[in-house]
Amino acid sequence: MKCPMCEKGILKKGKIKETMFGVYLGEFPAEICGSCNESFTDEKTTRAIEKAAKKKGIWGLGKKTKITRTGNSLAVRIPKEIANFLNLKEGKEAYIHPERDKIIIEPENL
Ligand SMILES: [Zn+2]
Repeated sequence: MKCPMCEKGILKKGKIKETMFGVYLGEFPAEICGSCNESFTDEKTTRAIEKAAKKKGIWGLGKKTKITRTGNSLAVRIPKEIANFLNLKEGKEAYIHPERDKIIIEPENL
């Protein structure tokens, strides 16, 4: 089968190492493009990945949030699921910096 992404490569059966939010979920069967390296999973595997993510407690951790104004700065609300996952507490210090078009927030690990 031809790759639907690049339309050049041929898909071959293989295995992918799946991670979500930096957490390793395991190896899963996938069709991998020999040209662009894009991988495709069937519905059964997609559900297995979802199940693995739920087991690790990370399913649905990616959320929309709103940027609000506080004085001269802007504030980002951190959803409580993410706060719990990272054990963030009010008053804790964090290092914030841009990464191209993203913002990285690194809580201090104490
Ligand atoms: Zn491709």
